[in-house]
Amino acid sequence: MRIVLLGPPAAGKGTQARRLAARFGVPHLSTGEMLRVAASSGSPTGLRIKALIDAGNLVPDADVLAMVAERINEHDASGGYVLDGFPRTVGQSEALDLLLAAGDHALDAVVELRVDVESLLGRVSVRAAAAMAAGEDVRADDNPESLRQRIETYLAKTKPVSDHYRRAGRLLQVDGMLEPDGVEHAIAIALGQVASMVG
Ligand code: ADP
Repeated sequence: MRIVLLGPPAAGKGTQARRLAARFGVPHLSTGEMLRVAASSGSPTGLRIKALIDAGNLVPDADVLAMVAERINEHDASGGYVLDGFPRTVGQSEALDLLLAAGDHALDAVVELRVDVESLLGRVSVRAAAAMAAGEDVRADDNPESLRQRIETYLAKTKPVSDHYRRAGRLLQVDGMLEPDGVEHAIAIALGQVASMVG
């Protein structure tokens, strides 16, 4: 099962991607998480990536593509994966099409979580407070200023990715404003899997 999860920052992609990955027994591949690991290395490349992430800007396609191409060729991803945070530009979606075609694979589904942009700041505040309460680090980009930039970047660069898949007749849209269980259920319906997920 090869699934792409699209949606604005803090839409709940991570939560749903983890659930889908568990459901289908495939790895959850979050480019945000991979990049945060790369950013924490302290190397010159890591520092460059960290500065981009913290400001709410995108990491260049070439860096992300190299990372994803390597990751999806690993053994545990041979039966599929849930991609969270990728593709984030039309260039990345075209590159993914080529990568898939080269492996004689295709995406099974592209799911977009639809969330009101006005609710995103509240969601980020909740996430930051939850991390703090759990004694975890708060993401450096989970602050109002970076979030504003992340939303702007999303509207300019990532929204067109949905159009790319819509044109290809591949886009499934789901209401991301529901509670997590409700969103999971809506995704299951969209995937036509609801019977097996409930049963
Ligand atoms: P969110 O969706 O909540 O913004 P992510 O963890 O998906 O969080 O991404 C965090 C940051 O990592 C992004 O704002 C961006 O700087 C970087 N990033 C993640 N995925 C990509 C990608 N596919 N291309 C470029 N930059 C990315």
